[in-house]
Amino acid sequence: MKKIINSIIVFSTLAALFLTGCGSAPKSSDGRLKALTSTTFLADITRNIAGDRISVDSLLPVGADPHAYQAAPSDVAKIAESNLLILNGLEYEHFIEPLLENAGGEKLMIEATAGLSPREDAGSIDPHMWLDPNLVVTYVENIRDGLIQIDAGGAEIYTANADAYIAQLKELDQWIVEQVNTIPVERRLLVTNHEAVGYFAERYGFEVVGAVIPSMSTDAGTSAKGLAALIEQVKAAGAPAIFLGEVENPDLANQIASETNVKVVDNLYLESLTDGAPAATYIDMMKHNVIQIVKALK
Ligand SMILES: [Zn+2]
Repeated sequence: MKKIINSIIVFSTLAALFLTGCGSAPKSSDGRLKALTSTTFLADITRNIAGDRISVDSLLPVGADPHAYQAAPSDVAKIAESNLLILNGLEYEHFIEPLLENAGGEKLMIEATAGLSPREDAGSIDPHMWLDPNLVVTYVENIRDGLIQIDAGGAEIYTANADAYIAQLKELDQWIVEQVNTIPVERRLLVTNHEAVGYFAERYGFEVVGAVIPSMSTDAGTSAKGLAALIEQVKAAGAPAIFLGEVENPDLANQIASETNVKVVDNLYLESLTDGAPAATYIDMMKHNVIQIVKALK
C-alpha cells in the first residue's frame, strides 16, 4: 500500500510540473505536434486515435523490455522535443524519472492506466493491464483526452477515431473469448516466466499456476527453492506449458521443462510489438499470443 501511495504522489507531482504551458514545445519538422509514448504498443494505440494529425513515436524501440530498459542519452532529447508524453503508469516506466529531470521543459504527461484499479501482490503493483483489451478501452479514452488537451482543434477526429478503435477492441475481446472456449476448462492453466498475465487470466478464465520469476518484473531473481516449488505446482496442476515473452531468458523454463512434462512456448509478445508480422500492431500482438496459448493448451 505504501508503494502505491508513493507512486501516486510522485506521478501527481510530475503531472503538475509538466501540465502547464503545453503548446510551447517544438513541433516536428512537418509542423505537426509530437506525442511520445514509452513503448511500442502504446504508440500503436495512440496512432489509431491520432490518425495523421499528430506525429507519434515510441521512446523504446521494438524488442526492448521496459522492465529491464536502460535509458540512452538520446532519450532525453526525444522527451524534450515532445508535446505530450504517454506512459503506461503503475511503475512500469521505472527509467522515466531521471529522463524527465534531464529533459526539463514543460509538456503534458498522461498515464494510460489512470482511473483503473490495479492488481496488487505482496506490495507490488501489476502494470500489465494492456493484456486485457477491455482495460485498453480506458487507455484509449485517456490518450484521446490527452490529445485533445494539446490539440483541441482535433477533438472531433480524435473522438471518432477513439470510438472506432474501441469497437475493434470489443471485437478482439469477443474473438479471444471464442478462442479460449476451445480449450478444455481443466487445461486453462498458465505458467509464465514472470507475473505478466494476471489481468488476462482474470478476464478470460485462466488459472495462473505460477511464474518462474515470482515478480511482476522480468528484472528480478528467483531461488532454487522457488524453482523446486514451481516444479511441484506444475506437476500437481498438470499445466501443459510454460509461456515466455520473446525477450525473456528461457534457461530456467527449459530446466523446469526437463524435469516435468511441459513444453516451453517462448514466442509470446507481452511487452513489445515486432517490426512487421506477427505483432506489428497491438491487436495483432494479442491475436498472436492467444493463438500460441490455444495451440499449446488445447
Ligand atoms: Zn512484464
